[in-house]
Amino acid sequence: MKAILLIMIAIVSIGAVLAVVGQRSEKVNKIVTSDDDIFDGKKIKRSDAEWKKLLTPAEFHVMREKGTERAYTGKLTDNHEKGVYACAACGLHLFSSKHKFDSGTGWPSFFQVLHRENVDEEVDNLLGETRTEVVCARCGAHLGHVFDDGPEPTGLRYCMNSVSLKFIPTTK
Ligand code: FE
Repeated sequence: MKAILLIMIAIVSIGAVLAVVGQRSEKVNKIVTSDDDIFDGKKIKRSDAEWKKLLTPAEFHVMREKGTERAYTGKLTDNHEKGVYACAACGLHLFSSKHKFDSGTGWPSFFQVLHRENVDEEVDNLLGETRTEVVCARCGAHLGHVFDDGPEPTGLRYCMNSVSLKFIPTTK
């Protein structure tokens, strides 16, 4: 009788553990699938003259000439609203408020991108040091750089220019 009781308790316990694990993986999936604007592989190619007509001078300088806005001058550094951060040039969804954190650098910072497919990384030796540049996968716009001194769970710090991003508020 005792043995049967112990077996039943064991089965219930295993069931409870599996339920918790299931909830966790569901949470992770929710983050990944909260936005389904995944790059479809169709790149946008425009000449500098065409981009100049579509972007403000500040946007053109940062996004097409790889400029950097001055720290603490961007509109989105201290934005804590829920929403999606899209490419200011082509609208592709790049980052989520769920992954934003206060880095203290003066630039909007994220510990992960919304979808791996939506950004490309390139080696940048512009300042005499090797950095990893982050660009929009669809239109090639310069967004910022990624460093490996970010917080958990990724340890990454995507240091972005506010001017390269367009914030879209969401209720989620
Ligand atoms: Fe873009």
